[in-house]
Amino acid sequence: MNFKKRANNPNTISVVIPCYNEQQVLPKLHSNLLEVLDKLAIEFDVILVDDGSTDDSWNLISKLNADDSRFKGIRLSRNYGHQIALTSGLDQAEGQVVVIMDADLQDPPSVIPEMIAKWQEGYDVVYGKRKKRDGDSPSKRFFAYWFYRIMTLLSGMSIPQDTGDFRLMDKRALVAFRELKERLCKDVEHITH
Ligand code: UDP
Ligand code: MG
Repeated sequence: MNFKKRANNPNTISVVIPCYNEQQVLPKLHSNLLEVLDKLAIEFDVILVDDGSTDDSWNLISKLNADDSRFKGIRLSRNYGHQIALTSGLDQAEGQVVVIMDADLQDPPSVIPEMIAKWQEGYDVVYGKRKKRDGDSPSKRFFAYWFYRIMTLLSGMSIPQDTGDFRLMDKRALVAFRELKERLCKDVEHITH
C-alpha cells in the first residue's frame, strides 16, 4: 500500500467518549486525559456524551466544562445505548483527528501519542488493540472474541480483533462515515414509505 506520510502533528484533536453512569471514573478519566493531551501540545477538545445517566455523571461533566471549556458535554434525553451516544458525539467532533474511547479507562489514554504517530505514517484509521482482555470476565472475553470475528465476516472488512472501541480516525474517514450514515438513513426512510 502507498501511504502518504504526514510531516506534522494534527492541528486539532477531538476525543469522543460516551458515558453512562460513569461518575466513579470521570475524575480519573479527566486527569489522565489532561496529562496525555497537555503533553501533546495540540489544540484539543473532549466531548463527553451523557447517555441518560441516572447517577451524578451530568453534574460532573457540567463542572468539568465550567472549569475548562475544552471539556464539552452533550446530554441525551434518555439512555439510547453506546452506539447512538457515540454517533451524537461524532456529529460534534471537529478535530483534524478524532479519538473514540470508552470512559472506563480499560483503554489507557497514554496510547493516544502512539496512535498519532501511526496517523503521521499515513494511516486514516488506527485501532488500539488490547494485549489481553484481562479486566473482563471469561464470558465477556468469549463474546468479544466472536463479536469481532462475526463482524469481520459480515462486513467483509478486516476489523482487527480485541480492539474494543478505542480508535483514532482522520477527519476524512469521519466525513465518509457521516455520508454513509446519511445515505443509509435515507434508504431506510425510502423503504418504509
Ligand atoms: N455506554 C453508553 N450507553 C450505554 C452503555 C454504555 O454510553 O447504554 C458507554 C459507557 O459509559 C462506556 C462505553 O459506552 O464509556 C462502553 O460501555 P461499557 O464499558 O459498558 O462496554 P464494554 O466495555 O463492556 O463493551
Ligand atoms: Mg468497558
